[in-house]
Amino acid sequence: MNLNVLIVPGDGIGVEVTKEAVRVLEHTCKKFNHSLHLTEGLLGGVAIHKTGGPFPEETRKLALEADATLMGAVGLPEFDNWPPEKRPERGLLGIRKALGVYANLRPVKSYPSLLDSSPLKNHLVDGVDMIIVRELTGGIYYGTPRGITGEGGEERGTNTMTYTRDEIARVTRMAFSLARNRRKKVTSVDKSNVLETSQLWRRVVCEVAPEFPDVELEHILVDNCAMQLILRPKQFDVVVMENMFGDILSDEGAVIAGSIGMLPSASIGGKKPSGAWVGLYEPVHGSAPDIAGQNKANPLGAIGSVAAMFEYSFGLMKEAQAVYKAMEEVLNSGKTTADLKPKGTPATTEQVGESVCDAI
Ligand code: NAD
Repeated sequence: MNLNVLIVPGDGIGVEVTKEAVRVLEHTCKKFNHSLHLTEGLLGGVAIHKTGGPFPEETRKLALEADATLMGAVGLPEFDNWPPEKRPERGLLGIRKALGVYANLRPVKSYPSLLDSSPLKNHLVDGVDMIIVRELTGGIYYGTPRGITGEGGEERGTNTMTYTRDEIARVTRMAFSLARNRRKKVTSVDKSNVLETSQLWRRVVCEVAPEFPDVELEHILVDNCAMQLILRPKQFDVVVMENMFGDILSDEGAVIAGSIGMLPSASIGGKKPSGAWVGLYEPVHGSAPDIAGQNKANPLGAIGSVAAMFEYSFGLMKEAQAVYKAMEEVLNSGKTTADLKPKGTPATTEQVGESVCDAI
């Protein structure tokens, strides 16, 4: 198979973990006889430095041409006080919107060798296996009007949370389709006791559900969901929610698994004529300025994102399984980065990448 992949390392540890993810991508393609063509694009702080903006036109073009995009992370402390529309993170929103990837899939899975790395007790974490499906291109991060107006005591910040029926229905269908191949349960998260967007959300989810009679549906309020993720995380299979709720709860889900550095994500949207999903793959974490440049970031979230790319964008399940299995072997060997609190000297970012390739 020919794989055309755009690589967007971004900023901070994004560069370090992406290098290892590309190493694994190249190694797996070689092993399974696929022809890999890589291009590289700028996004975030590095793009502001080199082109003046966080999402250059050239990157947009490359992303639209590629079969899939593998991204690191964006964000540099020097831009922390810049207005939102000029900050590196705006590049992230831009590329998601340009590709139309409306669903962000974040698998949260416990690994036996990592139970002690979780802040929760072992018996709560052992057996956790859920996918958080976050709506990605609508809601309060994109709604208008937005901005800061007025002066003095009357200075006012405004954001707008808005959803259309179609936006809710398409991400709901994706959640139900995923549940069909799993434990056949969808939990829809909302705040329908307070928000009109959530009332519409719940109504549309209920209307879509009968298309999937084999899948059980339950609703939960977002505040209760935050609590249940800590109290009884094993109850969840596929959990679907709007953009901001998903942004917050998926970080909570991330630490259940042991470290935020472990978690991959797949952002998918419409299908190409070949039937493959249009996809953007990235670890859940940010650019981690506190550890950037020290060769100690955990690359497994980025490497897991390569596995997700094989699965969703190319339908290459054997290749995806080979990467997942190699990751598990490396975890079992205990040669992991410092965030996973290994018993001996922690491995470097590069050593973990090399070990995953060896295991493949
Ligand atoms: P972060 O995810 O970068 O870091 C949070 C904490 O987790 C830090 O202590 C960091 O050292 C640790 N951590 C993160 N990834 C790790 C890894 N792979 N291995 C080991 N430890 C890891 O979140 P933050 O500190 O809130 O944000 C830093 C910057 O990243 C900000 O500019 C923010 O806007 C940006 N950000 C970008 C994305 C993205 O690109 N998708 C996501 C979140 C935050």
